[in-house]
Amino acid sequence: MKHSFTLEYAQQMDQQDPLNHFRNEFYIPFINDKPCIYFTGNSLGLQPKITQDKVVDELEDWANYGVEGHLHARNPWFSYHEMFPPLLTDIVGANQEEIVVMNQLTVNLHLLMNTFYRPNAQRYKIICEAKAFPSDQYAIASQVKLHGFDPATSIIEIKPREGEHYIKHEDILAAIDKHGSTTALVLFGGVNYYTGQVFNMPDITRAAHQHGAYCGFDLAHAAGNVPLELHHWDIDFATWCSYKYLNSGPGGVSGVFIHQRHATNKKLPRLAGWWGHNKDTRFKMPSDFDPTPTAEGWQLSNAPIFSMAAHRAGLEIFKQAGFNDLVSKSRELTGYLFFVLNEVNASFSQPVLEIITPQKQNEYGCQVSIMMKQNGKLVFDTLQKEGVIADWREPDVIRVAPVPLYNTFEDVFHFAEIIKRAIS
Ligand SMILES: *Cc1c(COP(=O)(O)O)cnc(C)c1O
Repeated sequence: MKHSFTLEYAQQMDQQDPLNHFRNEFYIPFINDKPCIYFTGNSLGLQPKITQDKVVDELEDWANYGVEGHLHARNPWFSYHEMFPPLLTDIVGANQEEIVVMNQLTVNLHLLMNTFYRPNAQRYKIICEAKAFPSDQYAIASQVKLHGFDPATSIIEIKPREGEHYIKHEDILAAIDKHGSTTALVLFGGVNYYTGQVFNMPDITRAAHQHGAYCGFDLAHAAGNVPLELHHWDIDFATWCSYKYLNSGPGGVSGVFIHQRHATNKKLPRLAGWWGHNKDTRFKMPSDFDPTPTAEGWQLSNAPIFSMAAHRAGLEIFKQAGFNDLVSKSRELTGYLFFVLNEVNASFSQPVLEIITPQKQNEYGCQVSIMMKQNGKLVFDTLQKEGVIADWREPDVIRVAPVPLYNTFEDVFHFAEIIKRAIS
């Protein structure tokens, strides 16, 4: 079907969308007495209506059982975290033994670098994307310093070319070729938080491995957004947060992938804690650490049950909707966003905006970054006034994420229509 930039068309698309009813499973914040256009699911996903019950279940069990809840709660806390790998295998493309849910994203980045960044005089560099999310930059620089190396010579940042917005794939491969023999770790985002660019994870991993370096990914903006095949792509490790696309609530618990060949290797160096210890002997409290031979062997502390209860609620909705179907809808919804933004441009004598997210298949997910050519802040303020929650990045970029679980074609239509009106 050929798209059109009309309300009737957008509403018709919503009527034909088999996933449209999942929107009713979420609380949509109100602005000006009506549901807002929520385009920041890439920053904090909305609250599923079932979340409250799941959290209250655990509060009740705590009230009813006290410490006995570890074994006698409806979902015993001792093994609570074990419910997550089956809910995540489709979303990240991994075996259950390769997945563990624990801690938070930046903490997990550090734990994983502790295992996979072991620099020596020959191999000490980390290759990463320029303008990575600040927390990742700080984490990487601090790890380099912790090992006695100099970030200025040890961190190789790959930038977009002069005058371009996103990074050329061949430039990433060229940098890995150039620095490969002195590189200990290639650590990239799966999706760049600023441009929405999806990196070619299997190619980057292959290139890193050809040079004998480990390869890991921060999937904060990828998990629950784009299809992932972490196991088949042979990635060494990855971590993600659950409060963006996975809707687990502010500060929600993070997820970790460790490839089977590493997860089963008890000799790999790591920071240890009692929850990573072999379950059969954990409560005998032996003095020597015997790691669980799965990704669970990297756990430190007992599980944060309330945060996990909220995470579980979000993942159960993903299971019902089916991740593949969500991805198909996401492509249509984002495709429609590209279309209406081009229509906005076409209605003026000169382009008023530029999409800085790559538009080739497999190079974008559901986040789109729009560079405004003039009066960007004014346009953004109008959007806000008219009930759109989006994200503003100085000096002139508006980031939006039409999320397939709860956003509609009508949301996309109104967004573009407000921009057009604001500029006229
Ligand atoms: C959201 C995000 C973070 C946030 O880190 P927390 O430890 O969860 O606070 C870190 N890195 C990236 C790339 C992100 O997108």
